[in-house]
Amino acid sequence: MNSSDVVIVGGGAVGCATAYYLSRAGAKVTVIEKNRIAFGASGYAMGLLSPLYGMGIPGPLEGLSLNGFLMHRDLAAELPDATGVDYHAHPHDSIYLSLSADDEAGLLDIASYSGNVDGVSFQWLAGQQLRSIEPRLTPAAERGMLVSGTWVLEADKYTEALAAGAELHGASFLDRAVTGLSRRSTGAVVQTDQGDVEADAVILAMGPWTGDAEKWLGVPIPVGPLKGQILRMDIGGPPVTCSVHYASNYAGRKADGLTWIGTTEERVGFDNEPTQEAREHIIQEVGKFFPPALTGKVVLQTACLRPVAPDGLPVIGPVPGWEGVYLSTGAGRKGIILSPSMGKLTADMALGRGDEMAIAAFSPVRFSSIAPC
Ligand SMILES: Cc1cc2nc3c(=O)[nH]c(=O)nc-3n(C[C@H](O)[C@H](O)[C@H](O)COP(=O)(O)OP(=O)(O)OC[C@H]3O[C@@H](n4cnc5c(N)ncnc54)[C@H](O)[C@@H]3O)c2cc1C
Repeated sequence: MNSSDVVIVGGGAVGCATAYYLSRAGAKVTVIEKNRIAFGASGYAMGLLSPLYGMGIPGPLEGLSLNGFLMHRDLAAELPDATGVDYHAHPHDSIYLSLSADDEAGLLDIASYSGNVDGVSFQWLAGQQLRSIEPRLTPAAERGMLVSGTWVLEADKYTEALAAGAELHGASFLDRAVTGLSRRSTGAVVQTDQGDVEADAVILAMGPWTGDAEKWLGVPIPVGPLKGQILRMDIGGPPVTCSVHYASNYAGRKADGLTWIGTTEERVGFDNEPTQEAREHIIQEVGKFFPPALTGKVVLQTACLRPVAPDGLPVIGPVPGWEGVYLSTGAGRKGIILSPSMGKLTADMALGRGDEMAIAAFSPVRFSSIAPC
């Protein structure tokens, strides 16, 4: 039987970030991934690092989000050089449009918190000023907020860089499916389709599939998939110089030279096929504030599954009744920005240095009253 200090199940951004911080701290780490590194949403996300928007800030995600954002800057300074994997992380300003008074109210949180984040600032701009930055914005945009100092990266390459960084620090990767867990005196035996692996600590970072572990552990893990689709478009003309957002939709230029537009939020189970319906929906919705979406050519359409818990918060912490078994999942729409802080918190837990206060709002214990499937 193979053995390791820590086994991590899942090679997405959260599992690979955890592997990176653990192996850097000297732990013997094995990551078990049943498809390939960045197979899930971590391989297809937009890759925007916007620490304030869509986080419900102020709220429980504040620390996780702001730390994650700052940790990304450190990672960007070390990982590409160390691993040779360039994931194109760089500052990339964001415009959040307001087309009505209600929209503006939603942007006030960003305004009130921008001063709290080193390197991030905001400015309210009138429509004409916005169009001097991006002339193709709809004439209906009379006001909006320019947030300077947000970042963007290529999520698939970022996840691969974390994996390569972990490997440099001695982590091993197994190409297997985990099928069960059983107890041992400390930690657990991880059953896979190609034999067992034992470990003092086991971290389940299986994204939307983490709910599969309910039957292994006998505790409720109500984490499931929220499908999202993105269109990669050739819109012609000069590049979009910042990402443009309205409500939950966006357009932004990526390292492939294309403009990526999205997205959808679909509760359709584990179906990750792109659909014609979503394609038309995204084009119409983004076209309302960024008209080139209506005329551009779709080069690629992708679909993937975000991991979500019923209350929309991440699930990070020890599994009740299991010594040395932890969950780290449920990052929803924000798993790329949150992955360094989730990974570090999870790594610290597995090393016995966990900060209980930092994870209190995310504990799996909050689901204890739900009956497991
Ligand atoms: C359209 C879209 C756009 C997004 N844009 C952004 C963005 O701009 N910024 C941002 O911060 N976030 C964004 N996100 C969210 C982000 O992509 C996710 O929150 C994040 O990728 C989740 O990472 P994860 O590691 O938890 O899960 P995943 O990436 O799903 O990884 C889980 C891994 O576990 C493996 N696995 C599952 N079961 C097993 C098993 N039994 N045995 C072995 N391996 C197993 C899977 O194969 C998978 O590789 C976006 C998401 C979508 C859908």
